Amino acid sequence: MGRLTVSSKGLAWHQKGHPWIFRDDLVNIQDAHPGAVVVLETQNGRFLAQGFYSDRSKIAFRLLSRSPQHIDARFWESRIQEAYRYRQRVVSRTNAYRLIYGESDGIPSFIVDRYGDHLVIQTLSQGAENILKELAAVLLELFQPLSILLRNDLSVRGLEGLPQEKKVLHGDPPKLVEVFEEEIRYGVDLWRGQKTGAYLDQRENRLRAGRLLQGRVLDAFCYQGLFALHAARMSVQVVAVDSSQDALTSARENARINSLDRIQFIKENAFDFLKSQTDAGERYDGVILDPPAFAKSRGDVSSAAKGYGELNLRALRLLNPGGILVTASCSYNIQEDDFLEIIRKSARDSGSNLRVIGRETQGADHPILLSFPESYYLKCFFLQKLN
Ligand code: SAH
Repeated sequence: MGRLTVSSKGLAWHQKGHPWIFRDDLVNIQDAHPGAVVVLETQNGRFLAQGFYSDRSKIAFRLLSRSPQHIDARFWESRIQEAYRYRQRVVSRTNAYRLIYGESDGIPSFIVDRYGDHLVIQTLSQGAENILKELAAVLLELFQPLSILLRNDLSVRGLEGLPQEKKVLHGDPPKLVEVFEEEIRYGVDLWRGQKTGAYLDQRENRLRAGRLLQGRVLDAFCYQGLFALHAARMSVQVVAVDSSQDALTSARENARINSLDRIQFIKENAFDFLKSQTDAGERYDGVILDPPAFAKSRGDVSSAAKGYGELNLRALRLLNPGGILVTASCSYNIQEDDFLEIIRKSARDSGSNLRVIGRETQGADHPILLSFPESYYLKCFFLQKLN
């Protein structure tokens, strides 16, 4: 078995609970093969933990266990079963959810999303890639899915020296799978959809928005139209905007299968649309802003902050008194307080007095590991504009 020796700085970091060790915090690497399970030890040779080794990424070690137990098929089976038992407690009335969320489920950089009888997997490190076959076999046995698709078309894999690819691991993954989220049914394009097909992390916020929004509602980055569909159940009219034609095609189809004809779909850049609506004197009782991550890296933070500020400012100008703004950021690099500060400024600039009625995050099927800040990326505020 390979062995990694941590520096004293690395040791302190490890003892605080963070599941990664960076290459700079290692003083020795011995017999460690790319993606293999290795032992982490102190400079005196004391055992600390076992985890995945990467010979390419800055993240050289990803924690699997702080005990010297065997990492074998039974170990993986018990981690997966634990992840499933947890989902059974926190997920209800849907058949589309995240079954395994990497580090937060003790299986670093390994993602499994479930869409009814179909599973989609992503492996984001050499270690996750190495155990793929073994884990797929356990998933097959436990869940007997009709298909398993590998959606490894992610650029972050480049940091691990891994190629981008899509591959069938089992069965015949269909082009479209229909799933449900409480009362709403929707289609998921497993092969070509964004992420693994859907933004499962916003599920709980969509349900909340559906219960809160009334009157005339705007969903500015609608993708498959899920916020719009939930909102349409209680609203008079919903306008749903996205810049992607594929997204709108699937959103329209979703509206049709739910017999919701109160939604108007518009293909446009949301920034331009919000501005032209203000210029035209349009007003809304609810606005949903769920844009893509503007800050993909730390270097993007200031331009991303400007983008979020502009967006929220434009949305607030459109909002009637009493109306509700649902505003999200999925940029890990813009933290909760930064995001609140951005919204505060947009509120000031638009002369809005806002009260926070919900301070939300990703759904419980994407659990946040307290010792792993990187697992907390989605911020979603529900704000009401006071008279
Ligand atoms: N709210 C959705 C997820 C939105 S993902 C849900 O809950 O499922 C972000 C969406 O914004 C994507 O569909 C993307 O096509 C769209 N998008 C990206 N940039 C845009 C822009 N400038 N204007 C409008 N839509 C944009």
